[in-house]
Amino acid sequence: MLNNIHSLIIDMDGVLWRDAAPIGDLPTIFARIRERGLKFVFATNNSTKTPEQYLEKLADLGVTIEAWQVITSALGAARMIEKEIPAGAPVFVIGEEGIKAALREQGFKILHTDHAEKAQAVVMGIDREITFAKMREATLLVRRGIPFYATNPDQTFPTPRGEIPGAGAWISVVVTATGIEPTYAGKPFPFLMEMSLERLGTKKENTLVVGDRLETDIAAGQAVGCPTALVLSGVSTREQAEAWKPTPSFIVKDLEALIGA
Ligand SMILES: [Mg+2]
Repeated sequence: MLNNIHSLIIDMDGVLWRDAAPIGDLPTIFARIRERGLKFVFATNNSTKTPEQYLEKLADLGVTIEAWQVITSALGAARMIEKEIPAGAPVFVIGEEGIKAALREQGFKILHTDHAEKAQAVVMGIDREITFAKMREATLLVRRGIPFYATNPDQTFPTPRGEIPGAGAWISVVVTATGIEPTYAGKPFPFLMEMSLERLGTKKENTLVVGDRLETDIAAGQAVGCPTALVLSGVSTREQAEAWKPTPSFIVKDLEALIGA
């Protein structure tokens, strides 16, 4: 199945694990990936965690990787802003540690809500401590024409109790109040895929994008011209995958079935 494939861009939630529970025998699956000589990175729309936190989570599940192999929508947003806004500029962030750490690492100064008006960019991701004051400041800045960036457009976030508001649901409040759409780093937009291809150093036609969601993972892979594999261990179903145009290159039960572990 993987002839001509030299590397993998792998989504995490719904591919590697559901909540805390791993999907399949991850140490064996990744040993097999390495035996086959495939390079890989993980690309996730989740902006709450840092790459180091994912390294720890994977290590706990018996998979050892390096920090360069984790690409989050938080890292993507920070890279995007770095290209447009002067280094060291003050920015206003609605988000959690993942996005704040990524911005600090690129040298940006993160403003407290009380000083938000000095911001040269607004960056928005999921923030489980969202407040009216944060939304008010973001809206005022965006209405003033300050550049508006966001990690990911996911409308909901899956939990054991059901779907709860995702980054996109909160972002939609600012979009409604301003009439301005942010520039997104995350899937289905191509930026995370481009960052992944750059890090892997493989050609797009030899790089397989693996994910469990058609409208984010598969759409992002298709947007940059990579072959794609939908795993049925997460959100999207086989019926949805067969109706999706263009159909993913592979539709498989899970990562193990794809790799042939
Ligand atoms: Mg997923």
